[in-house]
Amino acid sequence: MGLLSEGTPLKWDEVKKYADHVREHGIIQLLSAIRKYSNRSNDPLYWGDELEYMVVNMDNHRASLSIRQEEILGTLMSVNVSKNVSYHQEYGRYMVESTPRVPFGDKLEDIGGLEDNMALRRSTARSFVGPKEHVITLTSYPRLGVGKCAETKKEVGGPATKSLFLPDDIINLHPRFPTLSQNIRERRGKKVEISVPVFQDTATKTPWVDPITTERPEGVPGDQIYMDAMGFGMGCCCVQLTFQGESMDKTRDLYDAMAPLTPLMLAISAASPIFRGVLADQDVRWNVVSASVDDRTDEEKKRIPKSRYDSIDCYISRENPILAKNPDFYNDIKVLTNPKVAKQLEEGGLANDPLLVQHFSHLFIRDPLVIFEERIDQDDENSNDHFENIQSTNWQTVRFKPPPNNTIGWRAEFRPMEIQITDFENAALCAFVVLMVRCIIKYKVTFYQPISQVEKNMKSAHVRDPIHRVKYWVRTNILDQTADTEPKFAELSVDQIFNGTNTDFIGLVPLVEKYLNETDEELTKETREKFDSYLELIAGRASGEIPTDAQWIRNFVLNHPSYKHDSIINEEINYDLVKAVEELGIGKKWNTLGKGLLPQQK
Ligand code: ADP
Ligand code: MG
Ligand code: MG
Ligand code: MG
Repeated sequence: MGLLSEGTPLKWDEVKKYADHVREHGIIQLLSAIRKYSNRSNDPLYWGDELEYMVVNMDNHRASLSIRQEEILGTLMSVNVSKNVSYHQEYGRYMVESTPRVPFGDKLEDIGGLEDNMALRRSTARSFVGPKEHVITLTSYPRLGVGKCAETKKEVGGPATKSLFLPDDIINLHPRFPTLSQNIRERRGKKVEISVPVFQDTATKTPWVDPITTERPEGVPGDQIYMDAMGFGMGCCCVQLTFQGESMDKTRDLYDAMAPLTPLMLAISAASPIFRGVLADQDVRWNVVSASVDDRTDEEKKRIPKSRYDSIDCYISRENPILAKNPDFYNDIKVLTNPKVAKQLEEGGLANDPLLVQHFSHLFIRDPLVIFEERIDQDDENSNDHFENIQSTNWQTVRFKPPPNNTIGWRAEFRPMEIQITDFENAALCAFVVLMVRCIIKYKVTFYQPISQVEKNMKSAHVRDPIHRVKYWVRTNILDQTADTEPKFAELSVDQIFNGTNTDFIGLVPLVEKYLNETDEELTKETREKFDSYLELIAGRASGEIPTDAQWIRNFVLNHPSYKHDSIINEEINYDLVKAVEELGIGKKWNTLGKGLLPQQK
């Protein structure tokens, strides 16, 4: 979670008066950071993950969300600093984010410590919750917005969201969060509108009849799961990774290289087949979060194609010769920019850096959403609040992070993945991405493909079973590329992408194996075996031998004795599912309940 200023938040009517002020000073602050840090070099490949937990209450065969973030975080602050754990606020008042206290180092062996660190973070968090509270890692809470889904007496329809389903009490009490929700609603002139297709089971009502309400705004399809509050999206949990690049330019290269991987890692991490108590005909959260913070007015929607939570629109490398030779071929979608901001950046010293100007003037088409009265005027040389105000409310698939001070370098963040039920799976996905980043750097891997293809892939990942039912566009010649080689692209299955084709494409898992076999860095047998079991999970998911969490959750519901094949998740299923997720999360029942979810080697 980026910025957490204290103070009096302004209402939207006031915020909008300061929008240009925030943008202008945000860019001054950015230019100051660029001036100070553009020559940083030789920064080590530090990296760290962020995991988001839900705290649930389980009592008397009933599960509900426990909205005690302030108390729990308050006590978690007392954790001994010798433990490499750290906890942070999140949007949902039932959520807690955990990270390592200090990032992981740049040795290959350091990746081997990730899973133990995740386990320590979970067990530490668990030791700070109440006797009936449990810490789980689940992307979307099954019955969020149904009945009394959280431990609160407050009703739905609160002033921030006016939701038909979710009480405002599930929102983090820090003024930033209710204000963010309210200002998004006021900016767009109505509540957010989220809809997701219903999974058609044998007894699912057709046409679909919403079990809670038939009330919905005009234009929202009646045959879909309708949601109307930020919490349905921002209340989902995910796992993110941040990498420090060697320099500003190397970080830009890394940002570009990671972008084509985002839809693929979204698909392989799919873990959210249920929204608002109904089985969905998709397995991922991304478009739900996207719509949940979409602040565009109807008029803007006609000219601004995407929400501020969405996939990226342009590559930004300055040094990569392949992009440099053919920028319009790869940056092939129209990128909306703020001309005033572009001019300010050009006059501020970036006239020779059109892709960076495009990138930031694109992010700065957005308005600030929350401004604290006490922080309108800042010391632009030493503060980055106004910059972060816009930057950290552009929630895109990858993020390019300038140094906030002189102790941290340029970083690129990988943001698409869904949180997994077990730390083994979370560590496997994260370690895979970290290893892939090392491949990218070592072999100068070229994933560049027209960004419209990445966009297509992102859409493709939004189906039920995005591993088997769709194919994805990839560049197939990814090694030893020069500006003169003819790029090759193909639409491949997830199996082919991860496990390789016999002909053209090496495959992502074999690429990582090549790296592990060729490295001269020291690696213990134990860590190598751990990596092999991580790769087995990913290869197994891609080939279909191992289910994604979404498939596992869906099957759990479909086989539950009280499921009526009508797509509805009742209280009993919700409880049993949450309990199962909790148990699997702490290593219980892997051989019974979780059979098949994890690879044999584990
Ligand atoms: P966000 O703004 O995305 O919430 P956080 O500050 O929570 O970001 O940190 C994201 C991750 O970045 C954490 O895992 C943290 O350990 C890691 N991190 C911190 N410093 C560095 C660094 N210098 N290089 C790489 N990663 C870092
Ligand atoms: Mg977070
Ligand atoms: Mg964070
Ligand atoms: Mg983050």
